[in-house]
Amino acid sequence: MGNPKGFLTIKRKESGYRPVEERLQDYSEVEKELPEKERKDQAARCMDCGVPFCHWACPVGNVMPEWQDMIYKGDWKAAYDILQETNNFPEFTGRVCPALCEPSCVLSVNDDPVTIRQNELAVIEKAFQEGYIKANPPKVRTGKKVAVIGSGPAGLACSDILNKKGHSVTLFEAEDEVGGYLRFGIPDFKLNKKMIDRRVNLLKEEGIEIMTGKTVGKDISIKDLKKKYDAVCITIGAREARDIKIDGRDLKGIHFAMDFLGQQNKIVRGDKIAEAELINALDKSVVVIGGGDTGSDCVGTSNRHGARKVVQIELLPEPPKNRTEKEPWPLWPKILKTSSSHEEGCERMWCISTKKFIGGNGQIKKILACKVEWKADEKGNYSMKEIPGSDFEIEADLVFLAMGFTHVVQEGLVKEMNLKLTLSGNIDVNENYMTSEKGIFAAGDAKRGASLVVYAIQEGREAAEGIHRFLSK
Ligand SMILES: Cc1cc2nc3c(=O)[nH]c(=O)nc-3n(C[C@H](O)[C@H](O)[C@H](O)COP(=O)(O)OP(=O)(O)OC[C@H]3O[C@@H](n4cnc5c(N)ncnc54)[C@H](O)[C@@H]3O)c2cc1C
Repeated sequence: MGNPKGFLTIKRKESGYRPVEERLQDYSEVEKELPEKERKDQAARCMDCGVPFCHWACPVGNVMPEWQDMIYKGDWKAAYDILQETNNFPEFTGRVCPALCEPSCVLSVNDDPVTIRQNELAVIEKAFQEGYIKANPPKVRTGKKVAVIGSGPAGLACSDILNKKGHSVTLFEAEDEVGGYLRFGIPDFKLNKKMIDRRVNLLKEEGIEIMTGKTVGKDISIKDLKKKYDAVCITIGAREARDIKIDGRDLKGIHFAMDFLGQQNKIVRGDKIAEAELINALDKSVVVIGGGDTGSDCVGTSNRHGARKVVQIELLPEPPKNRTEKEPWPLWPKILKTSSSHEEGCERMWCISTKKFIGGNGQIKKILACKVEWKADEKGNYSMKEIPGSDFEIEADLVFLAMGFTHVVQEGLVKEMNLKLTLSGNIDVNENYMTSEKGIFAAGDAKRGASLVVYAIQEGREAAEGIHRFLSK
């Protein structure tokens, strides 16, 4: 700990965002970066706690105090060396992680936590800038072959670790480019796709074979993969979108959020979309159903299209602004999150249930909604009740369904393999991430349900260790 008084003398300062009127004109990343001197100051706020709860709260187990100290001392190479021990892709988490570590930072007991996520991003970007990161293919190959199916953060992390251990990895991806939801989900204004290309080029140089445009179960049979490879890891995400089966669902103008967001990612990379398939929010009244991150991404994208009005509705109550006694430090608090997209313009409503889609000429025009209240029974289980007489209508030319994902897509590969599923419908695995079939592993959202990039990386890493143990027997 270089500066023992840093936490007493320096206030938290966030990187901040580009001005709203500027960022709404483009799809470039909205977050800025602090000058190097200020970044070092921010790292100097770390108290190097005896028990670093930030480390405990981080799914990949980043050892924050050690690299904060190196940032403060200006030894960026040492900071990078420590960081890359636990996280394969800090350039992704440094941009999009909700930073589960920060509410657990000991400083946050009575002050603002260290800007851990932004400090992480500074380390990895400095490492790329200074050329510390170079392709480092394994010196020895084990002769074992592994197929990884799905190239989201889980598949990428799993492939990276297995390749580093000397196994020959082939990564199969259904889409025409690598990245999963990093590429065709998370908007460019949160994550510039060049960051994925930069990393994937390194992985290829290090020897990972990448086969895009290959859906396993359709273009390639799993039977063939099992014959050709010593182990297989399934990292196909949890992509079964939650639907809402009410009157008017088949009206034009009602889309799953991912159809909108994925299409926008493709437009940004230069794809031409056929007029009939184009989803455009220009001058439209947009209603986003679902108050989470995917919904917030629909808000930001709609505003960039030039929507007339954007409303985001959520069934659950508005979360509290501050930590409550029910979620004491160092737990993750479920508090109100206002994203950069919300700041760009959006009306947010809570405790709203959607009853009916109302159209004209086959096109959505309005939503019939009502207010609901949530009450806990004596056991503390909450249930929802419609408030009688609270019906109201919301104008809507476009509706995005952003109510989350139920589980892994079971149709196709998963059903064909007859894999054991969990109660929630995801792929069941043992402590080594092996599924009910010997030699077949699963990780990431496909195994844990829709989650976060950092958990996908963690699971990809752990599955790789399980596969390595299996191959080393
Ligand atoms: C709109 C949106 C915004 C998000 N924002 C954030 C955020 O800000 N921060 C955060 O931490 N998390 C965010 N998430 C969640 C995060 O993106 C996911 O948790 C993470 O990508 C899961 O990684 P994964 O590797 O398990 O699966 P995925 O990223 O879903 O990747 C699965 C891959 O498998 C491929 N695939 C599927 N079936 C097959 C097959 N049969 N053969 C070959 N390939 C196949 C798919 O094409 C895909 O590329 C967001 C998610 C969405 C949808």
